[in-house]
Amino acid sequence: MSLIDSHCHLDSPEFDNDREAVIERALEAGVEHMVAIGTGSGPPDLEAGVRLADKYPAFYATVGVHPHDAAKAAPADLERLAGLLKHPKVVAVGEIGLDYHYDFSPRDAQKSVFIEQMAIAGAARKPIVIHTREAWDDTVALIEQYWKPYGLPGIMHCFSGGPGEAERALDLGFYLSFGGIVTFPKALDVQAAATQAPRDRILVETDAPYLAPVPKRGKRNEPALVVHTARKLAGLRGEAYEEICGATSENFRRLLLN
Ligand SMILES: [Zn+2]
Ligand SMILES: [Zn+2]
Repeated sequence: MSLIDSHCHLDSPEFDNDREAVIERALEAGVEHMVAIGTGSGPPDLEAGVRLADKYPAFYATVGVHPHDAAKAAPADLERLAGLLKHPKVVAVGEIGLDYHYDFSPRDAQKSVFIEQMAIAGAARKPIVIHTREAWDDTVALIEQYWKPYGLPGIMHCFSGGPGEAERALDLGFYLSFGGIVTFPKALDVQAAATQAPRDRILVETDAPYLAPVPKRGKRNEPALVVHTARKLAGLRGEAYEEICGATSENFRRLLLN
């Protein structure tokens, strides 16, 4: 049974000492593909994900400026970003959005860089991968205004809302990508959303090295551990593990590889 980790940061320095072994463990655990999120340490470097996709057959990549790095993005960076969308293994623009928890970049900069990247993705007909933290209402409002007109899908990465937020995202044509949080005992809202979500709109991810699922919570996360998240989803939904593997992989292909 194979799975796809729709979101990981394997370029991260946390993997500098054992990246090859981490990838090997993922493949052995049945993780057939991984998406290397390309936000890296921010502009001017936009190719953190592309480098992994060029080197390893199992990887696809995204390119994007994370809201944390919005203040670093110059117009020339966004132009280069648009050019990188022609790379055959770049499947989406991301992760992009708003993060009001850390506010590492001023909110005005976060918003304008988010909007510009939606325009770039829309012009290239590529989906977007959304990061939103303590900024749900603004994120959804900007998606409504600037993304919905394209009629294109996207991913709510590391979905951490409840059924209400899930419905809103689904209405906007988004897929819900569940990560380690759904395995945390107190994450009842997220679990309710995961239980109710339509089978053709769910994905799984690790967001490695962050947010490792139970029973590895608190440790460094890695793509092999996506298995625990998929098992939790199966348990919540009363579906076989194999069904979750099949559905999330099929959803991934429909969304990102068509
Ligand atoms: Zn994120
Ligand atoms: Zn991420």
